[in-house]
Amino acid sequence: MSSCMRVCVRWGQWGVALRRCSSSDAGVRVRFAPSPTGFLHLGGLRTALYNYLFAKKYGGTFILRLEDTDQNRLVLGAAQAIEDMLDWAGIPPDESPLRGGPVGPYLQSQRLELYSSTAQQLVQSGHAYHCFCTPQRLQLLKKEALRSGQTPRYDNRCRHLPAAQVEQRLAQGLSHVIRFRLQEGAEPFHDLVFGWTRHEVAQVEGDPVILKADGFPTYHLANIVDDHHMGVSHVLRGSEWLISTSKHLLMYRALGWTPPTFAHMPLLMNKDGSKLSKRQGDIFIQRFRTEGVLPEALLDITTNCGSGFDSNGMGRSLQELISDFNPSKITTHSALLDLDKLPEFNRIHLQRRVEDPQLCSSLVCELQTQLLQQYSELSLDRDILQSNSIKRVLHHRKGHISYVKDLLSPQYSYLWIRPSFSPQQVAAVTLEAPHIAALVIRLVEQSRELTVDWLNTELKAVVKQTHSTKYREMMKLLRLALSGLHQGPSVAEMMVCLGASETTLRLHKLLLPSLTHSE
Ligand code: GLU
Repeated sequence: MSSCMRVCVRWGQWGVALRRCSSSDAGVRVRFAPSPTGFLHLGGLRTALYNYLFAKKYGGTFILRLEDTDQNRLVLGAAQAIEDMLDWAGIPPDESPLRGGPVGPYLQSQRLELYSSTAQQLVQSGHAYHCFCTPQRLQLLKKEALRSGQTPRYDNRCRHLPAAQVEQRLAQGLSHVIRFRLQEGAEPFHDLVFGWTRHEVAQVEGDPVILKADGFPTYHLANIVDDHHMGVSHVLRGSEWLISTSKHLLMYRALGWTPPTFAHMPLLMNKDGSKLSKRQGDIFIQRFRTEGVLPEALLDITTNCGSGFDSNGMGRSLQELISDFNPSKITTHSALLDLDKLPEFNRIHLQRRVEDPQLCSSLVCELQTQLLQQYSELSLDRDILQSNSIKRVLHHRKGHISYVKDLLSPQYSYLWIRPSFSPQQVAAVTLEAPHIAALVIRLVEQSRELTVDWLNTELKAVVKQTHSTKYREMMKLLRLALSGLHQGPSVAEMMVCLGASETTLRLHKLLLPSLTHSE
């Protein structure tokens, strides 16, 4: 990879130059680099999103790289699921294990050759060395340190092995790892979020393993090798990695490579400041998807934590998130996520989808599927399942419901299942049912468009044309005929939701109650 040069694209008001890699047309190249040791959760989604926003804002490239070097902790299906979830969320990578790209493969287990040759390069230049310490010895070191109240660290013993001995042990085929020789004098670096930072890593840590006995690299080596070879210009990652950066920079220096620019993002926490727990299982993206959360609502709420934007917004689309994103506003304090607000976020974004003809059509399909799952095909009338009816319901209820599945609640069952009622029930309300039904049918048939306000006014006029029925009784009758319910939404609202033809069809049953409701 050729070296990167500085150009005068500015990161917010900080005056920090963005680095543009001369090897890539796109300049900004960022990556999301999860380990497939679990499924994508909200914290990971947020890291991916901020990388995506940054890439799109500056016309760059968003890479997905899977860091699967810890083979013992791999979770079956997680790698594919992570990419699927990014697609679902609407923030697909430009380069990835599934999509490929110019600097692949994007799965670290397929790049072992590169890591081992880099480790050899470091050995040859004296920056790394072979270590033959047995797991038993390391265990003992650890125990002793703990016993004397110290933090366990490798004592760098193999640093000092004479070359001849190393050769001899290698020739014997002894199991070994490669360790990076941590130099004193780690340089301070400027993190775009945390400012100037320095960890004198050699004073607190033993030399880290960079290549394991099985030939797999550790995170530190693989991560910097790939960031370099993939032309990554900016590393935007969780602040838990801030402490490792000095070590990474020592490795960049040893290899003579220009490091990327770093920006560590504060952790995402629950609104009470506690850690988002993966164990509860309720922060996995798949779960939100299954529950009917819209991806844009999830993205919107994860940015609503006071980091990366001039102000906290609600209801921003992905395009708006890209244009409003201001990386200089990423703060060092934890981002507090209030998941109690999720239904509200979803309500706003659901309304937007309903208003978009194309997106609305897929909501219609989704609701049709859910209806068929909830009610058997036999109990649903074909007219009711028609796209136009469903679309009307969605348009009428948008802004009132948070999730599509809310329309499956008992409160809305009248929409999908035609009510049955007995002539006795009708007679108990009023003896004028056929007369009232005829009046209301005429009203509905003559109307150009049913609206709640118009119906409320007109129904008051209808009751005046009856002989002895009170307004309250007429409403009770209409409610019975339209829904079979004693309580629920207002009659006018039900009529609007049901639409003119379904309303009249249901009211027709009142015309001859003794014949049509003999059950
Ligand atoms: N594989 C690391 C993780 O799981 C990546 C850290 C980084 O972005 O450098 O978070």
